[in-house]
Order: sequence, then C-alpha cells, then structure tokens
Amino acid sequence: MGGLGSGRSLGGSRRNTVEEYPYCLSVSWMRKNGLIPDGHLKRCTSKTWYNRSTGEVANSVMLMGFVTEDGYNNRVDVLFKDGAPVKKQSIGIGYTKSGVCNRRAWLLCPKCFKNRSKLYASGPNRPFNCRECCGLVYQSQRHDRMARLFTRARNIHRKLYGNGDLTTGVPIKPYNMHWKTYERKCQEMKYYCDLGYAYMGVEVAKFKEQINKF
Ligand SMILES: [Zn+2]
Repeated sequence: MGGLGSGRSLGGSRRNTVEEYPYCLSVSWMRKNGLIPDGHLKRCTSKTWYNRSTGEVANSVMLMGFVTEDGYNNRVDVLFKDGAPVKKQSIGIGYTKSGVCNRRAWLLCPKCFKNRSKLYASGPNRPFNCRECCGLVYQSQRHDRMARLFTRARNIHRKLYGNGDLTTGVPIKPYNMHWKTYERKCQEMKYYCDLGYAYMGVEVAKFKEQINKF
C-alpha cells in the first residue's frame, strides 16, 4: 500500500452502511411469502416497514411474483405508491444449482444484474438495488477501516522509535533519520489519524443522536 494521499479519500467516511438502509427485500422473505415459485402462477402481497421507535408506517410496497412456464425466467414486480419517482420496478429472479436436484434462488440487482440475496432502498418509494450499487458498506467494514487507519498511524509511530501509543504524542526525530523523511512520516501519521477520526466522528455522531433521545 502506498503512502500519503493513496487509498480512498476522506469522502469514504460518509459512505452509508447497510444498517442505515432500513428498506430491504430479501430472498428468504420473498420465499416465505410465496413470491418465489411455490407452484402459484401469480402471487400478490404487500410489504410494509414500520418506524421502529414510533410504530408508524415508514414505507409500503406491493409485490407481484410472476412465474414463467419453464420456471426459470421468473420475476417479482415492485409496485410503488403514487408520487414515487417510478411506478414499478421489475426484479428478475436468478437461479444457481444447489446440491443434486435443488436450486437456489437469487434476486437479480436491477442495476448490475448480479445475484443478490438482499436489495436495499435509500428511502420510502425509492427503487431497490444491491448493496454495491447503493454504495453501502457494512457497519463492521467501516469500523474495521477505522481500526486499520489507526494501526497504520501506530506503525509509523513505532518507525520513529515511538512506543506505538498515539497518546504519547509525536516522537522526536531519530538521530539517524533525515529531516525530510521525518517530516514525511509525521505527515503520513497525521493523514491516517485525520481519516481515522473522520470515521470515528461518523460513529460518534450517530451514537450521540441516539443517546440524546433519552
Ligand atoms: Zn447491483
């Protein structure tokens, strides 16, 4: 991995997590609700999401499952309420072989057409796409990234003969190191710390928002 300025920009810290996208359609839910073939030719059902704290309806869509004769070109249509940017979104169902005679169903992301087990929407009446197309990361990924940034800063700290504890401050210039090298390493350390704090800031802000409700 490179040094200063390499890798993802600070904007990366603002990437939403899967947990922040509450509107999710999954293969398992569709299967349970008969939208993915269970012998019915056409099946219609609705899905409603509720606000976890107020109990109010947050989002609601109608879903229609279509089964073709060969049973392999099935799709589920998502019908949005009036006023939504799109009225209907068709989600293809893909299959892969699983075991000897079983097949596993997947939702085909309407954007990239990859097999996905879950699709997400950014808000009520918004179309569903996969995690990658929505630019989402898992909460744990964001946390891991933050941890890695601080680890990098600590490694530089040690290269400057520090003990790796960032709270002890910037180590003094080692006698056998050029000033230019020392300054560059300090800059790198600052860069990784800044990015790490940016990630931490997002998590702390979210936590503050939740705790302030009490
Ligand atoms: Zn996609």
